[in-house]
Order: sequence, then C-alpha cells, then structure tokens
Amino acid sequence: MIKSNLQSILRHKFSKYFTQHTQKVGLFFFKPAGTHLTSRQRLQIAYLNAFLPLKLTKMKIAVAKGDGIGPEIMEAVIGIFNAAKLPLEYQYVDMGKWVFDKGFSNGMTPEAKESIEKLGILFKGPMETPKGKGVKSVNVTARKTWNTYANDRKFQTLSGVDTVFSKAGINIDLTIVRENIEDTYGGVEHKLTQDVAIARRYITRGGSEQVIRYAFEMAQKKGARRITCGHKANIMKLTDGLFLEVFNEIAKAYSNLKADDIIVDDLCMKLVSRPDLFDVIVLTNLQGDIVSDLCAGLVGGLGFAPSSNIGDHISIFEAVHGTAPDIAGKNIANPTALLLSGLNMLRHLGMMEKAVMIENALLFTLESGVHTGDFGDKSIPSVNTTVFAQAIIDNFGKQPSHHTKPNLKDFDFVSTNRAISNNPMLLGSNNEPHKIVGADFFIETTLQPNALAAIAIQEEKNQLKLVTISNRGTQVWPTGSVFTNLVNQYLLRFETEDETPLTQSDIIHLYSALAKNFQISSVEILNMWGDKKAYSLAQGQ
Ligand code: NAD
Repeated sequence: MIKSNLQSILRHKFSKYFTQHTQKVGLFFFKPAGTHLTSRQRLQIAYLNAFLPLKLTKMKIAVAKGDGIGPEIMEAVIGIFNAAKLPLEYQYVDMGKWVFDKGFSNGMTPEAKESIEKLGILFKGPMETPKGKGVKSVNVTARKTWNTYANDRKFQTLSGVDTVFSKAGINIDLTIVRENIEDTYGGVEHKLTQDVAIARRYITRGGSEQVIRYAFEMAQKKGARRITCGHKANIMKLTDGLFLEVFNEIAKAYSNLKADDIIVDDLCMKLVSRPDLFDVIVLTNLQGDIVSDLCAGLVGGLGFAPSSNIGDHISIFEAVHGTAPDIAGKNIANPTALLLSGLNMLRHLGMMEKAVMIENALLFTLESGVHTGDFGDKSIPSVNTTVFAQAIIDNFGKQPSHHTKPNLKDFDFVSTNRAISNNPMLLGSNNEPHKIVGADFFIETTLQPNALAAIAIQEEKNQLKLVTISNRGTQVWPTGSVFTNLVNQYLLRFETEDETPLTQSDIIHLYSALAKNFQISSVEILNMWGDKKAYSLAQGQ
C-alpha cells in the first residue's frame, strides 16, 4: 500500500520526465507489480526526488526541418521557442526529399524512425515527395505508420489577415477534427473491368471511437460550446451511418457539450455563410480533408493553417502548406502556420502558459501590421522571415486588442510512447448472432438485364434465389427504367427466402455455377447480425 502510494506520488511528480527518461528512472518506478523496494532503492528514489527536477527539466522532441522553405521557417520558429525559454530539447532527424534521394524508400533514415518512436513527438517542416519514382509520401507514411488517428486543425480570425469575414466583423474560431487513417485513404482500389474502377471505404467502430473520443475530450478542454458531426449518412447508411452512430453513443458521456450532426454538403454551405456558428466539427477522412481546406480559405489561406496529427503513442505537428519551392531559399516565407502548429504542440504537452504568451505576441505582431510578402496591408512594406520572427520575440508579454488568448494553467503531459503490445480493436464486437443470407456477384458482361437474368436464374441453387440486378447501384431487374445508362459491370444479388442461413460452401457452389457462364470480377457475402441486414439495398430495390 505504502509502496504503491509512493510510486503513484513519484509517478505523478515526475510524469513529464518519464516519457523521455523512462530508461533512466524506469528501473525504479516501473518495476513489475509485487516486487519490493530495497532500502538502497528507497535511497535512490529519495535522491531522484531531490535532484531530478533540477536535472531533467527539459523534454526532448524530434524535429525534422523538411524541404524547400522548411529549414527557414523551422529556424524562425525554434528561434521564437528558444527566446521564450521553453523547457524543450530538440533532436534533429533526417526526413524528406534528400533522404529519398539517398535511397531510403520511406523518406526517413532508420535512426530518424527510431528517435521519433522513442521520443513520441515529431515537429516537422513540409516535405517533398519525389515525383515519378513510385515512392509514397513521407507525410502520409508517417501519419499511417504511427497511427495518428486524429488530424486536428484549428482555424481562427487573425487581426492583420483580412478576409471577407474579418471585414464583416464575424469572428471565426473553429476546430476541424478529421479521421486520419481510414475511409478511402486505405487506397484499396480495384478495376473490375477495363472501364470500371472501385474503391473500398473502411469505416470501423474502433477507428471512429478513437477519433470521436479525441474530439470530445479536446472540445471539453477547449471549453467548446458545440461539437458537430459532419457526415453523409443519408446516402452512405452503413459507413457514415456507423460513424454517426458512434458519435451519438459517445456524446451521451459528455452531457455538458451541445452535440449535433449535419449533412456535409449543408455543413459546407453554412460554413461559408455563418462560420461563427460552429466550434468543433468531427468528420471522416475524405470529407474532413475537403472541409478543412475550405476552412483554411475562411481565415486567409494555407499560410495560416496549423495541423496536429494525434495518436496515442506518437503525435506529429506540422503546417498544412507545402514546401513552396517557388520561394525557397529566399528567407521570405511566412512562418505563421508552422508557429501555430508548434503552439498546438505546446498545448498538447501541457505548456499552456508559454503557448498563450507566444500566441498573444503573434497576434499583437499581426495586429500591428507586420507581415511577410504573402499577406497583409500592401501599403506597409513586407519584412522577411527572420525580421517577422524577431518582431514576435520583441512583442513577448504584449496583449493584442482583439481575440486575446486567456491565460491557461500548465498541466503535466503523460504519454505512453511504447510499442503496442496487443491490438484491442482486433477483438471487435461479438455480441450479436451472425448468419450468411446471400451473396452479391459482380459480373462483367455486355448483356441487357433481362437476358442476363434469364441465364443467372438457371443457376439458382437450393434456397438461393436471384432477387435483384443492379448497375452502378441502380436496380435494373426485375424492374428498372429504359433511361438508366448501363456499363459492362452488373451486380447480381442472390438471397435466401425468409433469411434462411447459408454456409460459405453454398456460396462457393453458386460461384462455380455462375463462373461457367460469366466473368466474375468480385463477390461480397451478405451478412446479418441479429435481425439487421449488413448490406445496402440497390437504388429502387
Ligand atoms: P505549396 O503549399 O508548397 O505552395 C502553394 C503556394 O503557396 C505557392 O505559391 C507557395 O509559394 C505559397 N506558400 C506556401 N506556403 C507558404 C508560406 N509559408 N509562406 C509564403 N507562401 C507560401 O503547395 P504545392 O506547390 O502544391 O506543393 C509543393 C510541394 O510541397 C510538393 O512536393 C508537395 O508534395 C509538398 N507538400 C508537402 C506537404 C507536407 O509536407 N505536409 C503538404 C503539401 C504539399
């Protein structure tokens, strides 16, 4: 009892140092449960208790400068951080185009990968993916490999950055949380015929829960007034339907937040007319990608769009814009988006007081008209990257007259940057009885629907009956319209009467029979869990 209290006190006291120094102090604090502290260990803990706060006051993070304007804007931001005396240490890692050029196909050296996985935080500049070499974007690889499932992008009105909304006195303070791993970004695509391509869209309960829970937690910390789920569940009833279902389930645990949902096209329309009505919006990957760039446009463009890629173990902070090769090496790039991304990182690490101080200095600087060449009042001469950064440093301690950030208290950052030892999402839900009730066969043919049906019906096996034929999702048999345009790719749906359960062998028999007559491109099993059909109906079915 005494030991566990001691450990929890020490763990709490030193929590922000553990993530970086687990190796050193882990010997003492992370012993397997049930072992006893020797008197020597007690002495060592007393020693650590007395001296660690003096020695281990800095948190180490990985920094990748990036390509193009990356090194210039990174130098400007780290200069601001150093001037603010942040308790951070930087380990520079090799990532980007020149690493690809050296032959590392994922755009990072093994040492860089190891450092990032050990430190858990990556602050990165923009990176170029070499074209025409068949290599994957290092940015996307990093986000997916390290399971940074929530892409958090904040958009706010900045004085000195004129937009139609700032001129109309409409204040924007929006956060878009975009799911970052799933959806069509799995890139699982197939051509079913030479003319017909399809993509798989993965939406999972576990993946949705991770990102939606993050959005609610973040909204609560931010003191948000509203959290909204954007979706297209009216059309994609199973995929977006699942995302919305999870949102509504999680919302029940956050009764202090106003939670609602909106169809994504309506959301876009409302965002461009009344962006001030929204606060936190959570979306699936592709819709979130589009909506977040729309929001960047509302506040002055990509030069002011920060981004955080949040995972349980590793998080990545970067600006949304690219390497700007047209202005690289000239010291004229705008470091604001990278600085705002860095401020998100400070908040993530609990360094709230310094983040507020730097952000107020940035807002004061923008308000006073200091600007780089890409924005601002053209009647005031622009300054270069270095002068812009120095102006922010010179304004430390000053408060802007608009949108001043309120003081917030620091908190201890507790990270779990260790390898995943099991995969809890692998288990899934298993609480409803399952049965197979049919199969969809995707068939390549140039036949007309009635002729196709006449052949397919011959192959009906036992209880499996042909119930519908559709073309690009629209039913064309047993009823349809002569106005429906057809492509050489049909879906034949066979189902059992009265939802009688089938075996996988029943489907294989039908497959063999149909394969004698048709080129089958793909098969999809029709499942039921409980009394719910786990497949969509064809349009018109
Ligand atoms: P870009 O964002 O680099 O540039 C678009 C335009 O915006 C250019 O005119 C550029 O000068 C300007 N611009 C961008 N950032 C600016 C800044 N901070 N200050 C002033 N002006 C700025 O987009 P792009 O030209 O389509 O892409 C260039 C490269 O960047 C490509 O190789 C692309 O793959 C890469 N990229 C990387 C990331 C990333 O690392 N996360 C994101 C997007 C693009």
